[in-house]
Order: sequence, then structure tokens, then C-alpha cells
Amino acid sequence: MLQPKYKRVVLKLSGEALAGPAGYGIDAAVIHSTASQIKEIVELGTEVGIIVGGGNIWRGVAGSSQGMDRATADYMGMLATVLNALALQDALENKGVQTRVQTSIEMRQVAEPYIRRRAIRHLEKKRVVIFAAGTGNPFFSTDTTAALRAAEIEAEVILMAKNKVDGVYDADPRTNPDAVKYQELSYLEVLNKGLGVMDSTAISLCMDNDMKIIVFNISEEGNIKRVIMGEDIGTVVRREQK
Ligand code: UDP
Repeated sequence: MLQPKYKRVVLKLSGEALAGPAGYGIDAAVIHSTASQIKEIVELGTEVGIIVGGGNIWRGVAGSSQGMDRATADYMGMLATVLNALALQDALENKGVQTRVQTSIEMRQVAEPYIRRRAIRHLEKKRVVIFAAGTGNPFFSTDTTAALRAAEIEAEVILMAKNKVDGVYDADPRTNPDAVKYQELSYLEVLNKGLGVMDSTAISLCMDNDMKIIVFNISEEGNIKRVIMGEDIGTVVRREQK
């Protein structure tokens, strides 16, 4: 049997990727198809940490643009990610996948607090660990959380799941038919060209830690497995290849 290319990965699911066609809230069909795809790679033996976003429910910047205190709005955003994490946990456990949710803001009645060594132990036992509540700090994003946790748990790659595009383009492919997809990019190219892979804090953290990123389309069934098996779908962001 072919072996997966990666032993330990971090999958970043934005809130939008759980929302389905409505663009907000949690879509049951989408979350179940995502859970099935995750189950497939767990069965291949890959250790999976998941960072969930919260943009389908609440974003701090949106709250602050309406006059709300930014930090308070950001804490609301972090709590929103916990709702997504619990929904995903439920869908995975329904399919027989063992999971743990760890939160960066303590809420012991619903989840474990984030403890790095414990998270690694869960992964070694082939449990999927869902990291919720972002970094626990306002003014950050769940992209940065993915970069941080991936480095902490020594993941080999961050899989950036997108549901509207299949990689990184030089223009928006939905509005510009001439947009060209990049096969590969360096961190500096992403920063200098202002490409929407991750926010700049997250990209910088990946660059400093030499953390590879693969941007791919999760809405096509089986794509997480394809990436894990080393198929060239999507766009790879990594250190400049000399
Ligand atoms: N957030 C935060 N600190 C973090 C991670 C997230 O304050 O470390 C807040 C922030 O308000 C953000 C919201 O949580 O807008 C939801 O996260 P994000 O926007 O990254 O979700 P996504 O875009 O992935 O759905």
C-alpha cells in the first residue's frame, strides 16, 4: 500500500469552509463531508491537528468596525471558533474518529485546555486534536494559530483548506478569467505580492520556522487525501528553492 507523504499535519479550516453555500453558520452536509475526508487520512496513519476559524459566525474586525472594542470583539471571535470545533468534533466522532478539543481559553466543562505535550500525546495515539479559541489573544487570527501550533507540535506541513479556489492565483480567478495559478511560491513572494494565502503575521511565522504550506480546495471530495499522498494539487509555499 502506498504510504502517505506526511506523518503529522495541521489542517486549517476557515469558518467559511464550514459554512456551505449560505456563507455563514455551520452547514451539516459540508461538515460531514469534511469529517469523511479527515477520517480517510486518519485511517492512512497520518496524525492530524486541526485549527478551526470562526469567520462564519463572527470576526473581530467586523465588530470593531461597528464601534465595538476590538479586544472584546476578538474574544467573541475566539469563542465562535469553539462552536465550530464542537460541531466538527461531533461529526468526526459520529464517524468513529477519536478526537480531543483543546482550547486556548479555558472552558473545562466543554474541552481540555491547550497543553502542548498532551496534544502531542493525543496525536501519537492517533486522536485528531482540534485546536480552538485561536491563540487565546486578541489581535491575532486563526491563520497565526495554525502557524504557531504547527511549529509547536512539529507538524511537517500546514494544509490551508479553501472552498472557493484550488490554490493561489495572481488575481481572483472567480472574477478574472486570465488569472494564473502558482504551483509554488516562497514566503517572501507571498508577502511582497500581497497574496491572500494567510495574513502577514502567520506567513512570517511560517517563514521563520520553515513551515511548508499547501493551499488546496477542500470542496472536492478526496482532496485532503490527494495532498497527503503527495499529489501536486494546489499551491505550495515554502523556502525559496535554490
Ligand atoms: N481571533 C483572535 N485571536 C486569535 C484567533 C482568532 O482574536 O488568536 C478572533 C478574531 O476576531 C477573528 C476571529 O477570532 O476575526 C475568527 O478567526 P478568523 O478570522 O481567523 O477565522 P477564519 O477567517 O479562519 O474563519
